[in-house]
Amino acid sequence: MITSHQYRERIAKLRPNVYQKGKLVDRFDPTIRGGINVMASTYDFANDPEYAGIGVATSHITGEKINRYTHIHQSMEDLLNKQKMTRLYCQEVGGCIQRCMGIDGLNALSIATYDADQKHGTSYYKNFIEFMKQVQAEDLSLVCAQTDVKGNRPWRPGKQLDPDLYLRVVEKRSDGIIVKGAKAHNSCSAYADEIIVLPTRNMVADEKDWAVAFSIPSDTEGIKIINGAFAPPQRKKLEAPYSKLGISHSLTIFDNVFIPWNRVFLCGETEQAGKAALFFALYHRHSYCGCKAALSEVFTGATALAAEYNGIENTQHVRHQLAKMIQIVDLIFAAGVAASVNCTKADSGTAIPDTNYCNAGRMLAGESIYGEYEALAAIAGGLAATLPYEEDFYDATLGPLLEKYIMRNPDISAENQHRAFRLFQDMMSSVWGGHKLIDALHGGGSPVIEKVAIYRDHNLEHSKNIAKKLAGIPIKGSTKGIFREKRSWY
Ligand SMILES: Cc1cc2nc3c(=O)[nH]c(=O)nc-3n(C[C@H](O)[C@H](O)[C@H](O)COP(=O)(O)OP(=O)(O)OC[C@H]3O[C@@H](n4cnc5c(N)ncnc54)[C@H](O)[C@@H]3O)c2cc1C
Repeated sequence: MITSHQYRERIAKLRPNVYQKGKLVDRFDPTIRGGINVMASTYDFANDPEYAGIGVATSHITGEKINRYTHIHQSMEDLLNKQKMTRLYCQEVGGCIQRCMGIDGLNALSIATYDADQKHGTSYYKNFIEFMKQVQAEDLSLVCAQTDVKGNRPWRPGKQLDPDLYLRVVEKRSDGIIVKGAKAHNSCSAYADEIIVLPTRNMVADEKDWAVAFSIPSDTEGIKIINGAFAPPQRKKLEAPYSKLGISHSLTIFDNVFIPWNRVFLCGETEQAGKAALFFALYHRHSYCGCKAALSEVFTGATALAAEYNGIENTQHVRHQLAKMIQIVDLIFAAGVAASVNCTKADSGTAIPDTNYCNAGRMLAGESIYGEYEALAAIAGGLAATLPYEEDFYDATLGPLLEKYIMRNPDISAENQHRAFRLFQDMMSSVWGGHKLIDALHGGGSPVIEKVAIYRDHNLEHSKNIAKKLAGIPIKGSTKGIFREKRSWY
């Protein structure tokens, strides 16, 4: 395990290939620094004895103690610890912890590479395990570029007018492959050591060129990171942990990038490409059951705070609203716990969370976010939008006036009223707040995709049989058993 200082030093050595507003920018550009702070905290937390049981795992490859973000889940306990870690870290930093794309990509690859080797006699799993030894020894920060730019949505990769709209292999050589294309919405690529690339979707037999997976240093020749950096509005005097946050997302261009064979994890195996895509999405939705529980709890806490500071915490509509929000926090987290408890094992030995519970938790999280914004806005009142500038609170003439007229609940100081409403404004009425709203809806897959998965994986015949039996209609088989059958992955 390395320290956050070592992580920052390593990122500082990367070749400049991050672009913003038409210019090549330093990775430690002030706009990007908030994201680096969050990524760095994943190293601090792992070294904090308070999180030792959760943030540190034992490698099943080497037996060494490793940062859990570099671990392949071996058991139900691993899945539960990953979910707890995600929730605790996210609530500590106040948002996305940013390292789950990496762990979720690694776990998906552990299954898909193993299965490809069993079926095709390839050596991807060996490549993968050698790569994992490096990931764990060096505590690499990894991101996952799965989402292709995708062109015209209804058309498959091979049917697009431009074949590069899904990333593809353009040349196979004795020493490696050359890939071309672009990945969208690539979170944290500006400050990660490596980018894991996975297919976006299942592939059919004639889509071998698009069935490719690999991992490569983020500053490899030919990679351009066209970055968008987001952060809560910066403070001048009223410092607060929330204003140290940030995140970046990029359009990552792969312009004829060379990938050596030892870093290639799939190349033409269409069935396993689909598996890699599906498993990344599944692990990522499991992560969301931790991180979105934390985000929903931040909204619940902020709403309760707004009620207290406005002096309305004992009114019935506030209590009902808070009960509804707490229920959502608990259900999202419970879905992840149930998914972990109801896990299965891949042939590679990797533990797989239950698909329906993961998708149900992620879908609830995505669909609830607009309601959470609405609840906080409703109970905080309009000041969350119209709060005067921070400088005015520190102006010799205006400051005392603002402190006089911001007062509500007399037990709360003017400064704390100001702090609370500055937080609500940052959370909802800022570029950052708008950005996070769409992030919480689409990140990890849009709600419609979860509906597709839930419908696909639930045994509706079993449900219908229960109804038929109650109606006295003859059925085949038995309706006994509380849970639906676990999905078979083979
Ligand atoms: C803040 C943020 C961070 C993200 N980070 C990452 C990341 O780090 N790595 C990563 O790989 N991805 C990341 N994503 C991508 C995320 O998973 C996608 O946004 C999500 O899967 C939706 O894809 P899309 O944005 O291309 O939307 P689209 O696919 O364009 O969807 C738009 C709408 O069209 C519908 N639609 C799409 N295709 C069809 C079709 N064929 N038929 C009918 N309807 C269709 C969708 O259901 C949706 O309603 C991130 C997204 C966000 C917003």
